[in-house]
Amino acid sequence: MAIEEKFDVIVVGGGLAGITAALVCARAGLETVLFERGEYPGSKNLSGGVLFTPVINQLIPEFWNQAPIERPVTKKLFSFLSRERSLAFEFSSREFAKPPYNNSFTVLRAKFDKWYAEQAEAAGAFIINETVVDDVIRDGERVVGVKARRDEGEMYANLVIIAEGANAFLPLRMGLREPFGPDDMVTSAKEVWSLPAETIEERFNLEPGEGASIDYFGEGACMGLLGAGFVYTNKDTLSVGIGVNVGDVMRRRIPPNNILDWFKSHASIKQLLKGAKLEEFSAHLIPEYGYKKFFDRYGDGYLVVGDAAGFVNTSLYHEGTNYATASGLHAAETAIEAKEKGDFSKDTLKSYEKRLADSFVLQDLKRFREVSSFMHRHPEFLGKYPEEMIALAERYFTVSGEPKEKILKRAVRGFTSKLSLFKMTLDTYRLMLKVLGIHPTWFIFPPKK
Ligand SMILES: Cc1cc2nc3c(=O)[nH]c(=O)nc-3n(C[C@H](O)[C@H](O)[C@H](O)COP(=O)(O)OP(=O)(O)OC[C@H]3O[C@@H](n4cnc5c(N)ncnc54)[C@H](O)[C@@H]3O)c2cc1C
Repeated sequence: MAIEEKFDVIVVGGGLAGITAALVCARAGLETVLFERGEYPGSKNLSGGVLFTPVINQLIPEFWNQAPIERPVTKKLFSFLSRERSLAFEFSSREFAKPPYNNSFTVLRAKFDKWYAEQAEAAGAFIINETVVDDVIRDGERVVGVKARRDEGEMYANLVIIAEGANAFLPLRMGLREPFGPDDMVTSAKEVWSLPAETIEERFNLEPGEGASIDYFGEGACMGLLGAGFVYTNKDTLSVGIGVNVGDVMRRRIPPNNILDWFKSHASIKQLLKGAKLEEFSAHLIPEYGYKKFFDRYGDGYLVVGDAAGFVNTSLYHEGTNYATASGLHAAETAIEAKEKGDFSKDTLKSYEKRLADSFVLQDLKRFREVSSFMHRHPEFLGKYPEEMIALAERYFTVSGEPKEKILKRAVRGFTSKLSLFKMTLDTYRLMLKVLGIHPTWFIFPPKK
C-alpha cells in the first residue's frame, strides 16, 4: 500500500471509541485506516473495569457468545469505608443474569480490545500498530491527514477521527483545548490479582460465571482524598484500584500507589485478596473536566470522540466505555453521511454534534455536569458524612445490656452533635440532583415522561 494513498477516514487510537468508529466506517465501505501506538489495540489500555455494551450489542448482536468477556455483572455494591468500619449497599438481580446481561460485563481490555479490533479488521479496516500519530496535517484550516512517527509517515484522508484517549494531545496541538489543570483529571492506579474462579464465587457470593462490581468511598478507600476505590471480579482475577483527583493528590502530596496500598490494607479488602497473587499493575488518567469545559469536537476534516473529547461520567455511574463506543458510532455515522455528500466540511460534520445531543452521550453528560465541582465544594460526602453514618450504625447496633431507647437516643445524639442535620439535608438534596441525577421533587410530583 502506497503511503501517499488517500483514505476516506483515518482513526487515531485503537481504544473502544476508535475501534467502534473504524468498524462502522469499514462496514459501510469507507476506506479506513486506524493507527494504534501500542503493540496491538488494548495492549496500552487498562485491563479490568466494567464494559457497558448497548452499542457493541447493537453492532455485534450477542457478542458475548464470541467475545473474551470475563463475567456479566449481576451484583453491584456501594461501600463506605472508615478506617476500621464499613457500611454497604448491595443490589443484585436475576434479570441481570439473562441476556443482554444488563449490558454490563467485566473485561480485561488487553483481550477485549484486541478481539474488537479484529472485528473491525474483518470488516475491512486497516490497522497499523506500534505507530504514534504526532500531529495532524492541515491545508489552511482543514485537517487533511496525519503525521505518524515512521518513515514516510504522512498519510492523507478526507476525515481524521481523533480517538487517542484521556491525554488528548492532538486537540491540544490543534489549539482546540487549553492545557488540563490538575483538578481536570483523575489519576488511577490499578492491580490485577489472580484467584481460582470458585474462590471468587464463594467470596463474593456469586452464582458460577456471574460477577460483581464494588465501588468504595470514604476515608478507608482514599485516605480522605476526592476519589473512590473499586474491586471488580473477572473470571479468575480481581481488578483492584483507586482513582483520585490529581489536584488533591498534589495538594496532599500522597502518591497514588500509597493510596492503593492504604485501600488494600483495609480489613474488607484484605479479606477479599487473601491468598491472591499479584499479576499486573498499571496507571492511567481519566478526564474529569466534564461538560462545562468541553471544546469544539468537530471542524473541517476532523471529529473528536471518547475520552479524547472528555466523555466520561464521573458521577456514581463511573462510566466512560459506553460514551466512547456511542461517540465512535456517531462519528462513523457522520463520516458515512459526509462520504455520501462528498463533503467533509465543518458544515456537514456538525451533524455529529446533533447525533451526540440526541443520544444519551450529551444528555447524560449535561445532566451530571456539576458533579466534579460539587464534590470539590463538598468533600464531606466522601469524608465526614459517611464517617458519621458509619459511627451512627455502630452505635445503633451496639449491644450493651442497656434498653434500646437509651442506645438509640445516644446514637442520634452522637450523630447530631457532629453534624448539622439541616445542612446535611440540604446538601443531600443537592447531591441527589447533581450526583445521582434524581430530582428529589420527582417523588412528590412524578415526572410525566
Ligand atoms: C482505572 C480505570 C477504570 C475505569 N473503569 C471504568 C469502568 O468500570 N467502566 C467504564 O465505563 N469506564 C471505565 N473507565 C473509563 C474507560 O476506560 C474510558 O472511558 C474508555 O476506555 C475510553 O475509551 P477511548 O477509546 O476513548 O480511549 P482509550 O481506551 O484510552 O483508547 C485510546 C487509544 O489510543 C491510543 N493512542 C493514544 N495516543 C495515540 C497516538 N498519538 N497515536 C496512536 N495511538 C494513540 C492508545 O494506545 C489507546 O489504545 C476506567 C478508566 C480507568 C483509567
